[in-house]
Amino acid sequence: MITERNIKWHKPRITKKDRWGSNQHQSALVWITGLSASGKSTIATELEHRLFEKKIKTFVLDGDNVRHGLNKDLGFSPEDRRENLRRVGEVAKLLVEAGILTVAAFISPFASDRDDIRKLFSDEEFVEVYLKCDLAVCESRDPKGLYKKARRGEIPDFTGISQPYEIPADPEITVDTGKLGIDQSVDAIIAYLSEEKII
Ligand code: ADP
Repeated sequence: MITERNIKWHKPRITKKDRWGSNQHQSALVWITGLSASGKSTIATELEHRLFEKKIKTFVLDGDNVRHGLNKDLGFSPEDRRENLRRVGEVAKLLVEAGILTVAAFISPFASDRDDIRKLFSDEEFVEVYLKCDLAVCESRDPKGLYKKARRGEIPDFTGISQPYEIPADPEITVDTGKLGIDQSVDAIIAYLSEEKII
């Protein structure tokens, strides 16, 4: 297929490992999944800040933000969600290749879509973080008023209300954001990254 299109992979001169050596830390994709209002954006932003203060090269890919640009042509049907995540997975792959500790905050409700992204990375490079938070707690937080709208039937395909959320079967980290505070939640992720010698 690729040969037919006359496309050939050009081998880079500077490798990911070269970048790890220069940065003095590894790169990986921290994939944060959970219901709307479980705390994905809040934790991703705080995690990025804490890593940045440690002089670690890091960047957040946020679900809402990529829908402003790269993925503004996509909606929330299962097919569009899949394409949304496929593109994000490829962008994350480039960022990890560039030596950046990438943090992605996406509801990513379907296990098969999350697993497709996992397959793009080695075992050490993909860290799935499940934010465990009951629907009732998320709904009571409702920082963007989305659950209220969804309950009124104004948002079709809303995860947890009119579309399922498939709980990760074997995530690297589960953070109980229904019980823990924001700092404690971020501490748990940083501790894992240190234990695994990623940072
Ligand atoms: P999501 O990105 O998952 O939709 P947000 O981060 O936008 O969620 O909103 C989560 C809300 O829950 C915020 O208002 C945040 O302050 C609050 N919150 C309470 N406890 C936590 C916690 N442990 N982790 C993250 N957010 C929390």
